[in-house]
Amino acid sequence: MEVFLENLISYSILIIISSLVFYFYTRRKNISTKLTEEKISKAKEDGLYEPVSLHPVINLDTCIGSGACVSACPEKDILGLKNGKASVINASRCVGHGACFNACPVQAITLCIGTEKRGVELPHVNSNFETNIPMVFVAGEIGGMGLIKNAVEQGKQAVKYIVEKLTREENSIHDLIIVGAGPAGISSALEAKKNNLNFLIFEQDTIGGTVANFPRQKIVMTSPMDLPLHGKVKLFETSKSELIELWNSIIKKNNITINQLEKVISINKEKSSFFVETNKGKYESKSILIAIGRRGSPRKLGVTGEEKEKVFYRLLEPELIRNSKIVVVGGGDSAVESALLLAQNKNEVTVSYRNETFSRLKPMNVQRINEAVDSSRIKVVFNSNVVEIKEKSILLKYDKDKSVEEIENDLVFIFAGGELPTKFLESVGISITKKFGEPLLSNSKN
Ligand SMILES: Cc1cc2nc3c(=O)[nH]c(=O)nc-3n(C[C@H](O)[C@H](O)[C@H](O)COP(=O)(O)OP(=O)(O)OC[C@H]3O[C@@H](n4cnc5c(N)ncnc54)[C@H](O)[C@@H]3O)c2cc1C
Repeated sequence: MEVFLENLISYSILIIISSLVFYFYTRRKNISTKLTEEKISKAKEDGLYEPVSLHPVINLDTCIGSGACVSACPEKDILGLKNGKASVINASRCVGHGACFNACPVQAITLCIGTEKRGVELPHVNSNFETNIPMVFVAGEIGGMGLIKNAVEQGKQAVKYIVEKLTREENSIHDLIIVGAGPAGISSALEAKKNNLNFLIFEQDTIGGTVANFPRQKIVMTSPMDLPLHGKVKLFETSKSELIELWNSIIKKNNITINQLEKVISINKEKSSFFVETNKGKYESKSILIAIGRRGSPRKLGVTGEEKEKVFYRLLEPELIRNSKIVVVGGGDSAVESALLLAQNKNEVTVSYRNETFSRLKPMNVQRINEAVDSSRIKVVFNSNVVEIKEKSILLKYDKDKSVEEIENDLVFIFAGGELPTKFLESVGISITKKFGEPLLSNSKN
């Protein structure tokens, strides 16, 4: 009897403990599922659910729901747990750190590029980053692989190969022209300098590439990298300003000139030379390295006065802009989100849009801009086009009656879309293929 009672107590305790464990496990699973589902709905609403380039693909048959990938990802809410398995949330925000891939204990993650529905165009390059056109190279994110460290490495490797292949001549023709001064372009310029090449580097904007566009607060995750003429940079977590300061100091120390605000418009081959045309001049070179990233070039309006310093194509630090009369040009999400941010700081904001209505906005932005217009925080002028930008004003032409209005103005932000980087590559003659979800990093078990 005593033994029976003892057994009964032991079994009861075991059952209670097991039930508690099961209860808390199920509760936690349900909470994270609910949270992830809510985030997925929001991501779908905001148009961030569908991947645009690199992204993780989870094998649900092998995933054990450890959550290691969720904790390893340095970006926010790319992954979550749903029904005890990993699930992608804001796939379009993935920048390809690959931390999820490395963290998964059962190799259930593959890093893919593009999807079945949405292909990603990539240039053909060989293992030396040379394209189908001999002596034209492509390095960095435009080649498909994201991340600062990869861009730095590829820029350096491409130039090492160019140095081997180049026949140097004592004439005025440049050995190399580099297009773009992001991480890949900067590292290739350093390698070119190290090898005494007679080279030029053009940047349509300012140095730093995509990094220069990061929000000031963003923590930049990186891995140690080897910068030519500098050596090892042992950084894991850094900031945009620290990285850009580092690049600037190395560039200055090595007397490298980066031709900023000089956009390469065309590259044409004649015999064994390349003729490069920019918005400022024409140049000749024996080789070309294209490191233009994937952001593309902002589309310009082509109106008088657009070159003025008060005209911008991106909004970096809205909190620093106050008490100004601002015109935001465009009717997409970037234009509307920027106008809403600027209106928070006692600025007088007018949105000029050439169409009749906002037809391609995220639902949340439609609601927010309507509220801002109703409460007179923002003025929206549909069917209007900027025709001239003056020092203290801007001329808007109205489509309906063709009248022109001059309004006072301090700053202009233009969000008129962009020219795709792959179009530029095609114009040079580089072969492009579309990738429909092909793995870039995969494990044999997948
Ligand atoms: C939101 C976000 C967060 C990220 N976070 C991280 C992170 O934490 N860690 C990390 O390692 N990576 C991160 N990345 C990825 C990283 O920024 C990119 O992989 C990297 O900057 C690619 O370098 P790149 O030199 O190939 O291209 P880019 O940095 O894009 O530079 C290309 C440059 O070429 C210029 N250019 C383009 N066309 C022309 C032309 N016709 N003439 C002249 N110049 C031209 C552009 O203006 C640009 O400056 C992030 C990316 C994003 C979008």
